[in-house]
Amino acid sequence: MACNICPRNCKIDRTAAAGFCGCSSVVRVARAALHFDEEPSISGTHGSGTIFFSGCNLKCIFCQNMVLTDGKLGEVFSVPRLAETMLKLQALGAHNINLVTPTPHRDAIVEALRLAKNDGLRIPVVYNTNAYETVDTIKAYQGLVDIYLPDLKYVDPRLSLKFSRASDYFDTAIEAIAEMIDQVGFMQTDENGIAFKGVRIRHLVLPGCVFDTRNVLDAIKARFGADCPISLMSQFTPIPACTVKPLDRPLTQREYENALEYCISLGFTDVYTQDLTSVGRSFTPPFSDHVEL
Ligand code: SF4
Repeated sequence: MACNICPRNCKIDRTAAAGFCGCSSVVRVARAALHFDEEPSISGTHGSGTIFFSGCNLKCIFCQNMVLTDGKLGEVFSVPRLAETMLKLQALGAHNINLVTPTPHRDAIVEALRLAKNDGLRIPVVYNTNAYETVDTIKAYQGLVDIYLPDLKYVDPRLSLKFSRASDYFDTAIEAIAEMIDQVGFMQTDENGIAFKGVRIRHLVLPGCVFDTRNVLDAIKARFGADCPISLMSQFTPIPACTVKPLDRPLTQREYENALEYCISLGFTDVYTQDLTSVGRSFTPPFSDHVEL
């Protein structure tokens, strides 16, 4: 079947070849474990039951998880194994099942979620995405995903082309996020501050690109209003493989403060910020070809 799962629209038969995302018809998982580096409402006290998928449809040149983006690392998972892994993470006490870079694996994930829910999966399901999604793919998750964490990376097409080879990034991502919000609304938390439903839009502030952070915040406010939950991230870490300026240096404290001041000036009411010690810190967990769980 010609793959059109994401906006790359490769139209290739993935049983015969891999697409832009590096994924063939098999699902590779490079880590499944409790994870504590998400926002407090996602990691909570027990951890987020995170499943890291191999392959990526955006392939940003500054990606901290670059080892995963070509789709080669990771253990091949069947649909039943994927469902079983979700149930094991639930049994370990995870607050949620957190699907990281799930986009190319839509059909297997949808099937696994149905199977796992049928077999007793009760905790919320989090869809953790670069937001370069088609509306149709997000519609496929209606009723299966409780929480969406789209990372809205750019508005400026010059940046999205240069850093992610996707000049249509913003126009595509904003429609996908609108569909997410239509499905589950804005993020809601329980009495312990743990998220159980809704959307929180993430944005990673990039060095030398605070002007586009302002564009992103303006666009969110214009489309969804200032009550839209935001996570303004400072954790950009330059990687040796990326020598393109200005992404070859860490974000400065002043840049993050400028971004945050602008966010507050727009009147956003629900904003997660990151401690400035996050600047330059690695958030990359160990990945492998063998998943212990
Ligand atoms: S999921 Fe992969 S193969 Fe399919 S359209 Fe997107 S990049 Fe291409």
